[in-house]
Amino acid sequence: MRELGRVTAVSRVYESAPVGGPEQSAFFNAAALLVTELDPLALLDALLAIEVGLGRVRRERWGPRTIDLDVLWIDGLAFDHPRLRVPHPHLTERAFAMRTLHDVAPSARDPRTGAPLTLDAAAETQALTALDASL
Ligand code: ADP
Ligand code: MG
Repeated sequence: MRELGRVTAVSRVYESAPVGGPEQSAFFNAAALLVTELDPLALLDALLAIEVGLGRVRRERWGPRTIDLDVLWIDGLAFDHPRLRVPHPHLTERAFAMRTLHDVAPSARDPRTGAPLTLDAAAETQALTALDASL
């Protein structure tokens, strides 16, 4: 990801139980804040290419995967395209997404309303365990 721009912050790593989908092991979740010149679709393509490079094979929806790179939020931008929606459509309902975003961008706002993206609502939905902060 460092080849796509400048990584200016990295969140802690949070372990969470899988939501929906088949029986599978826990997920590890993290976010990076990237300053990039890429436009949103080029960024998505670059992330998908990294997933492929890391051996992700898309089989079952919400099933086990080696890696899932999503665009959670872009400062000041609301983007609606068949291949990319920003902020991520499930951002505010997923504790791991809100928690990791909050780590890297604590003052993030909803680009449509200008309201701060607060942790409160999502935090209740899912238990998260932060791994050692030195990771
Ligand atoms: P998920 O991330 O929902 O588990 P996938 O990683 O298989 O599922 O993504 C499916 C598709 O979601 C991608 O091919 C991409 O075009 C689309 N997509 C829409 N919005 C986003 C976003 N904000 N971040 C990443 N992918 C997105
Ligand atoms: Mg994805």
